[in-house]
Amino acid sequence: MSQLIRTVTLPDGSQVPALGLGTWHMGESRGSAEAEIRALQAGIDCGMTLIDTAEMYASGGAEEITGKAIRGRRDEIFLVSKVLPSNASRQGTIAACEASLKRLGTERIDLYLLHWRGRHPLRDTVEAFEQLRKSGKIGAWGVSNFDSLAMRQVSALPGGENCAANQVLYNLSTRGIEFELMPWLAERSIPVMAYSPLDEGRLLRHPGLGKMAGRLGISPAQLALAFLLARDNVIAIPKSSSPERVKENRASADIALTSEQLAELDQLFPPPRSRQPLEMI
Ligand code: NDP
Repeated sequence: MSQLIRTVTLPDGSQVPALGLGTWHMGESRGSAEAEIRALQAGIDCGMTLIDTAEMYASGGAEEITGKAIRGRRDEIFLVSKVLPSNASRQGTIAACEASLKRLGTERIDLYLLHWRGRHPLRDTVEAFEQLRKSGKIGAWGVSNFDSLAMRQVSALPGGENCAANQVLYNLSTRGIEFELMPWLAERSIPVMAYSPLDEGRLLRHPGLGKMAGRLGISPAQLALAFLLARDNVIAIPKSSSPERVKENRASADIALTSEQLAELDQLFPPPRSRQPLEMI
């Protein structure tokens, strides 16, 4: 029997599973909606109860799919959504959140992120996040695609100490954050949410990864995810619209890589040796 998925603790003490579900590209066509809902429900059934979505994805369509997938079981879910930078003014953030709540069919988003930094002053976005938090419409707030400098800037703002997560591009072939950003976040117990953990599927065609996974009797996706799950402060959010692949991804949380296996991955995908600009999709 599979074990429970290990949890990661947010700064406010909430425990969330280290492996969740992405939703980018869901809700783009009516024909695939049923399959997407089934895939998300298969993930929830096997403990992947953190769902990551955004108002941007399919212009709200992914939030609607998510809302349908969690109907009747909202209490099991840790729900993450994001405000677009163009909406992230003092008033715009509140309005965007209310529209997301409607599409999601819920009264609360557990973690609400600024999708990336835009033209609105960060101070205004943080003020709006704090207002949403105090009114209970969100449980916590965080950021996405923030490098170390932007993290320092947000933390220095009034209320900035409440930033609860930074969602960034992180996978075996994109390890730049390990040099500076990850240690900075770990020191402050701010989790990294690793987006595109399979490099949007590209990693799965890497010959070295395929070979090593074959030797271990696991799939390349499982090996790529197990690498991320070996890190304490990381939450991985792979997306799949197939219940079978969701279950395959879920099994990665039961794989404990040895230090030799992690060293072999370092040979295949060398860690950064210097500070790198933050990569994003
Ligand atoms: P992923 O790295 O999760 O890869 C998704 C792709 O891999 C899909 O094509 C999927 O196809 C395929 N896939 C998934 N599991 C398997 C498997 N076991 N075997 C083979 N193929 C597989 O990419 P995403 O960009 O979707 O990132 C994950 C999530 O992170 C997003 O969905 C989104 O929620 C978030 N994100 C956030 C960003 C941000 O700026 N904050 C930017 C990008 C993503 P299929 O569905 O057919 O299985």
